[in-house]
This record gives sequence, structure tokens and C-alpha cells, in this order.
Amino acid sequence: MFKFDLKSEISEIDNNVIRFKIDFPPFEGLSFVCMYLLKINGSNVLIDAGLHFSDWRKKFFTGLKEFDISVKDLDYCIVTHSHIDHIGLIKTLKRKNPDMQILMHKIAHDLIEWSTDVKNNFEVEKSATELAERMIRFGIGVEKGDRIIQFFTNFYRLINYCKPDRLLHDNDEILFNSNKLKIIWTPGHAAGHVCIFDINNRYLFSGDHILSRITPHIGSFMMNPAFKSEYDLTNILDYYLNSLDIIDNLNPKIIFPAHQEVIYNPHERILEIKKHHDIRLHEISSIIKNNPLTPFRISQLHFGEELSEINTFLAISEVISHLIYLEFQGKVKRLEKNGRIYFLS
Ligand SMILES: [Zn+2]
Repeated sequence: MFKFDLKSEISEIDNNVIRFKIDFPPFEGLSFVCMYLLKINGSNVLIDAGLHFSDWRKKFFTGLKEFDISVKDLDYCIVTHSHIDHIGLIKTLKRKNPDMQILMHKIAHDLIEWSTDVKNNFEVEKSATELAERMIRFGIGVEKGDRIIQFFTNFYRLINYCKPDRLLHDNDEILFNSNKLKIIWTPGHAAGHVCIFDINNRYLFSGDHILSRITPHIGSFMMNPAFKSEYDLTNILDYYLNSLDIIDNLNPKIIFPAHQEVIYNPHERILEIKKHHDIRLHEISSIIKNNPLTPFRISQLHFGEELSEINTFLAISEVISHLIYLEFQGKVKRLEKNGRIYFLS
């Protein structure tokens, strides 16, 4: 397990919100993970559940004590999505406080339940193999494909599964006397991603949907056949951009993201992210103007060839989501030659 000297900063922001900002060294660029404690009409609502590495856990519980809050005082924990840096402590929290309600979107739960059940080991590996085969058709080498299988077979084993008390759906509301939290399903970074909106204060807890400095990865690493039949998320970038508009229309005052800085100009930040994707769509489109290339080659030309392994996967995944978006608009075509898929505009 990771062992680091973790930096942390626990502070109160805007009266009702305590931020637990704790180092996340393995992932460059994200640099730390934030959990929030929202006080709403006498209830304590935790947004996300961080990492379960022991040093990280210690920092979180020490932070709670600093603010004189016991784990038993926590009423809810709402998880924004299924990634390991957002659900790490759910099991520990539930063990320490069985009355605390854990909430997450149905898709997030389906994915975690499916991928962490040892009965499904064979199916998980099969899905990882299919993903690798798809990526090889999209231009990566066989060796990289093997690494994808290893990564996605083992990745889910890092998750500490705990059955949620309530499954969330788009537009669900959680009532707190005169105030309520609204759940907005925001697929894109993850299929079962939600944002949480405090209606009275106009606070938006955005998970990884909206970050202050980088745009979250929007990709095609989706393996669970169970939810694929229920939702067709092929054009995931379209879902993501639509859910940005839904958030913008809520007119949030402050956005509290799970990484990076608090956002005090939500509308401007949303416009920046949309513009960023627009530029990326144009750039990708112009790289393949009358010049058919595989998504892997496009990702090398767009993001460079010196990327780390994980960033190579993220880059190709990101390129594919943009190509599929353009394909749905009829702006690019795909060709198949010798078992490889090429796109051209
Ligand atoms: Zn994250």
C-alpha cells in the first residue's frame, strides 16, 4: 500500500462547509482529494469518502476531531462516483457509525457491486480482455493491451465495497426541513457520477465533473455489460456536455470540487470547459482531414508521445470519446483495415 508523508488542510469554507483537503500523491495533476462536510438544518452530510490508505484515513479522522465532530454525528455520506479516491472510507465509516446513510447513484453501485464480487472475477477479466481487444483495434500495441487487462482486472480489487442504504437517481431530493439537496446525474467522467446541489445556499458539490484547473477525463473505459443494456452511453462526451448545461442552469453560487480549488465563478468555469472541448474537437478533426488515422496515432499527435502508461490510456480514451461525438454529428467517418479502425474527417 502507498506510504507517504501526506499534507493536509482542514478548513471551514463559507460557514456551513468544512473541507478536508488531503494529499493524493500517486496521481500527478490532481494532487489532492477533497471531502466536504456540509451542515444543513442540523444534519451532517459528508460528500464523498476519500481514500482508504491508512495515512489518508488517519488525516481525515484527525481532522474531524479538530472540528469536534464525532463519526457518530455523521448522518449521510453521498458518494459522487465509483472511483477509488471517492469511496475509500465508506466501509470504515459504516462500521464506526451504522446509522449513517450511504447514498450513491444506481449505476455507481451496480458497477462496484459487480466488479468487487469475487464470483464475477472471470467476467471482470473477460470485460478487461474485450476492452484491450477494442483498444488494439483502435491502434495500441498488443503489449499495451496486456497491461490494460492487468490494470482493469486488478483495479477494482482496490475498492472497499459496502452496500449503500439508498440508491440515487437523477433529480432525487433529500429533504432537511426547510432545505433540500438535489441530486443531478452527470455522466461523463464516470457513468454513475452525480453532483449534489444545496438549493438554499446554491452550493454545488461537483465531484470530478467540474474541476478548477483541468478538465476531467471523459473516456470510453466502460466495461460493465450489466448497465450497458440499461443506458446507451456510447456518446459519453455528449452526455458530459449536456450535464454541464444542466449544472449551469441551476446557477450555482459556489462549486466545491473533489480536487483542486473551490470555484467562485461557476458560469465562467463551465464556459471555459465547454470551450476547451470545442477546441479539442476542432483539433482532432483537423488532424484527420483527408488523412485516416487510428485513435492511438491521433492521441500521440494531439497529446505527444512521451506520456506515462496511465496517461497514454487516458489520452486514447479521451480521443475516442471526441471521435465518437464527431461521428454522431456526421463529421467524421470510420474505416476498418487489417483489423484496425481509422477515422477521417
Ligand atoms: Zn477523483
